Formats: sequence, C-alpha cells, structure tokens
Amino acid sequence: MPLGTAPVRVRGAGKAFGAVRAVDGVDLDVAAGEILALLGPSGCGKTTLLRVLAGFERPDEGDVEIAGATVADAATWVPPERRRVGMVFQDYALFPHLTVAANVGFGLPRAARAARVPEVLALVGLADLGGRYPHELSGGQQQRVALARALAPRPEVVLLDEPWSSIDPVLRSSVREDVTAILRESGVTTVLVTHDREEAFALADRVALMRDGRIVQCGAPEDLYFAPVDPWAAEFVGAANIVPGDVAGGRVATALGAFPVTGDGAPRCVQALIRPELVELHTDPEGTATVLSREFRGHDIFYRVRLGDGTVICSQRPSTENVHLGDHVTVRPHARPVTVFP
Ligand code: ATP
Repeated sequence: MPLGTAPVRVRGAGKAFGAVRAVDGVDLDVAAGEILALLGPSGCGKTTLLRVLAGFERPDEGDVEIAGATVADAATWVPPERRRVGMVFQDYALFPHLTVAANVGFGLPRAARAARVPEVLALVGLADLGGRYPHELSGGQQQRVALARALAPRPEVVLLDEPWSSIDPVLRSSVREDVTAILRESGVTTVLVTHDREEAFALADRVALMRDGRIVQCGAPEDLYFAPVDPWAAEFVGAANIVPGDVAGGRVATALGAFPVTGDGAPRCVQALIRPELVELHTDPEGTATVLSREFRGHDIFYRVRLGDGTVICSQRPSTENVHLGDHVTVRPHARPVTVFP
C-alpha cells in the first residue's frame, strides 16, 4: 500500500435498489488501524455500504479503493476474494461440519495452514479449542472463530455487520471488549455496522452517522455527541434538550439558563442543544420548576422537569446528587459550551 493512502477510500459511491437510494454520494476514508463504526437507523444504508466495501454489491457510481488498489469504479471490478478484506457476518456463517481449526484455515493456502491457524487461534484466545465443532462453543466463542477466520489471511481491512446483535445482552459488553481488544492487537483497519450508538461510541475511533443513504457526519464520538451537525443527529446519538435561545456576547440565553456557545458568538436567534447532564437541579422550595419523573439508572438519575413556563426538559445527574419526584427545584446551567443550530 502506498504510504499515506487510507486502507479504505470511497468517493461518490451510490447504490440504488429500484427507487431506493440505499447508498447516496458517500465519501469515506478509514485510516490504518482505525476502528470506524457506521451508525444509523434501520434502512439508512449501513449494510449496503459495508457490502459495497466487501464486494458483495457493485456500486452504480463512484470509486472504492482498498489498500491503495481500486476495487470498484466505472471500469474496474475486483471480486470479494481478491480485495484483502475479511468479513464477519452477523450469524458468523461458520461451517458446522468443520472443526474450529478447519474453519479458521478454510481460506488459507494449504501450505500456510499449519503455521497460521494456531497463531490466529492464539490471538483470539482459543488456542485449546481448535478440535471442537461450532455447536460445541458459546456464541462469544463462535464469534471469535469467525473473527479468526477473517483475520487468518492477514487482510488489510475487517468488516463486521452488527457483530453483537445475536449475543445475549448480559454477555454482550464483555464479548465486545474481547473482540475490540483482538482487533486493536492485530492492528487491522476495521469498519463495523451498528444501530446502537452506545456500541459505536464505546468502540469506535470515529463514527460515520448515516441517514437516507448519506453520511451526515463523520467524527470522534465526542464530536457527534456535543457538536452534531443538526437537530436530527443530536437526537439520534443521545437524549437532548433543543430549546430556543438568543446568542449575545458568546453566550446563549435559554429557559434553562445561559450557556457559553461553541464557535460564532454573534447575536442571533438559535436552537440550542443542551445535553441533559448540563442541566443541574437544586432542591429549592421557592423554585418554579417541578420534578415530573425520576429514573434511577445506577451511576446516574434521569429526570423530566417542568419549568415555570410549562416547557418539559430532561436532566441527568450523578446519583450522588439526589432530588425527589414532585420536588420544587431551581435549574442551573453547567458551564460547558453548547452547540447551537440556526
Ligand atoms: P438495518 O439496520 O435494518 O440492517 P441498514 O441501514 O443496514 O438497515 P440496508 O440494509 O443497507 O440498511 O438497506 C438500505 C435500503 O436499501 C433499505 O431501504 C432496504 O430496504 C434497501 N435494500 C437493501 N438491500 C436490498 C436489496 N437486495 N433489494 C432491494 N432493496 C434493498
């Protein structure tokens, strides 16, 4: 791969199914060793984009490069097996009649198997289970076999489609951590599809948020959360108060108080994005706001609060700070700068 070339580079990719533009004008670069999550609601085109990268779908327009080589454009079509891409499917797609070792060695040249299979089984922590069959493994172990099989030919890029959706929710976070640690250790460039923003935020270096076939924003999880491009993106990635405000002197005055604004502080009317954790609540018998609901979530508590003017807003506070259902409260703004929309 030429120095400085992103292992995944997409320009102007589009793919339609009849009238549905599943992927629409997508540009994307994924850096070496990076984990990028494609996040978005059902039907937004995440899986189709992943399949375009894998070579299971041919784009109608645009260019796709993998590891510095063009794999799809108007004149070029490289099939999946020649793309230096490993794919982990949602259902793992293991061969039930083959042992773990045979599954992992399946795509390797015969001569390479004896050395590479134990190596990659050790990488995924299954060194002792090579002789078992898939049905003799837990869901998490089966997933590691699928990952080992994808990594065995030393691909440049690994693609994972909703990798944790069929794993028991209780085990999901530990399986997720294991798989991410393996991906990090192997240093492979990764693109994964998820509709779960917590998953995307927890695992990915960058998140590409998709809507109607387009990438509407691509950035670090913190950027998507605190500086979303529009109100839709703001609400897709987390609970949000989006309230009218007036910007003046670098601050935005809202019904929740005055917050510093990020970027342009010029006077104007806006919608301000105030995440619930930026809304502090203080019990105050004279307070004009009232606690309507209170959800204890362990490390924090999620409140709905009716302000004096009738607006209902949400607040999320550490569970060390407790206010009660029905309490009169004063609402105070946290000093973190907030994003505003025109
Ligand atoms: P989900 O999270 O539900 O899997 P997604 O974001 O992965 O959704 P895609 O599966 O990529 O979305 O689908 C994008 C759009 O393209 C949807 O409207 C879907 O119905 C349509 N689509 C996908 N594959 C095909 C196909 N083979 N034939 C016809 N329409 C398709």
